[in-house]
Amino acid sequence: MIRLSSHAGGSLTIRAMETEIEVRCGRDRPTTPRLLRELRTLEAMTAIFCRDRHGGEVLCESCEALMAYAAKRLAVCPFGEDKPVCAKCQIHCYGPRQREEVRTIMRYAGPRMTLRHPLLALGHVLDKRYPAPPKPSAPRVRDR
Ligand code: SF4
Ligand SMILES: [Zn+2]
Repeated sequence: MIRLSSHAGGSLTIRAMETEIEVRCGRDRPTTPRLLRELRTLEAMTAIFCRDRHGGEVLCESCEALMAYAAKRLAVCPFGEDKPVCAKCQIHCYGPRQREEVRTIMRYAGPRMTLRHPLLALGHVLDKRYPAPPKPSAPRVRDR
């Protein structure tokens, strides 16, 4: 008999006979190149900010929680690979607190990225040049 059980973190456990396989469903972390690069950029900025402002070698609990939140938002971003930079987005799916935290991180770490992560910094500068696509419209209900 095959049993499936899903977990809050977006993973799925498949049990068949004596075998158990855990499958990550991609809802807690993006899986496509553009979105992964964006997450890496944000993680690099947060690492700079956290080390300088929160004083540890690894991310503090609150920065770690913010990165987990951002990864989930990116994983379900409705724009997918065409996503604009979040600052230009017309949806703004972040909660107000998380949005402010990311802004603070970017203000601090943005100017420091060029030396430490030049390629990620360049990618982010280029992303900012593209206009934001319009909000994806809700699926239309078929006329009866
Ligand atoms: S703020 Fe906009 S672009 Fe950024 S993850 Fe949310 S929906 Fe996507
Ligand atoms: Zn921190």
